[in-house]
Amino acid sequence: MTKAIYPGSFDPVTLGHLDIIERSAAIMDKVIVGVLVNHAKSPLFSVEERVNMLRDVTSHLPNVEVKSFGGLTIDFARENGAKTIIRGLRAITDFEYELQLSQTNRVMAPEIDTLFMTTSLNYSYLSSSMVKEIAMYGGDISAFLPPDVVKLVQEKMISIKKG
Ligand code: ADP
Repeated sequence: MTKAIYPGSFDPVTLGHLDIIERSAAIMDKVIVGVLVNHAKSPLFSVEERVNMLRDVTSHLPNVEVKSFGGLTIDFARENGAKTIIRGLRAITDFEYELQLSQTNRVMAPEIDTLFMTTSLNYSYLSSSMVKEIAMYGGDISAFLPPDVVKLVQEKMISIKKG
């Protein structure tokens, strides 16, 4: 059985992430999306909120599961019996960092490989941080996120502005 993990912050999940999830679910028997608990970053959405929104937007994919994790990605892969880490590559700017990450992971866990999927062209510019910035200034984010997530981001922005 081919099993992969797809780790990330997903703060929030974008159509670019969803594209990678759908395409990896088509080539793997099982994909576990891992929402990283990263104490260094201060996220817009809590880990629970991010897990729930990912579960919602992947509910049409029976071989996709969503979990949160802390610590090393290779440990999360091992705990789940996965031999593959999926990562998305948008542009050349992602490459240097992703190369470093995957090579370091292979030294620590030679039995685990990283599989890179290149972004569909229409999402190659898309990032969660860009979407958050647009939303903060009241811009239209509906082209970038699944519809349910658009609502959640807008609600979150309203609650932040209310303070
Ligand atoms: P991280 O905080 O680890 O960068 P992200 O949540 O931003 O996590 O992204 C998780 C993974 O999804 C990374 O491999 C990233 O390159 C990829 N990714 C992010 N945005 C897109 C996109 N628009 N299209 C394809 N892949 C993407």
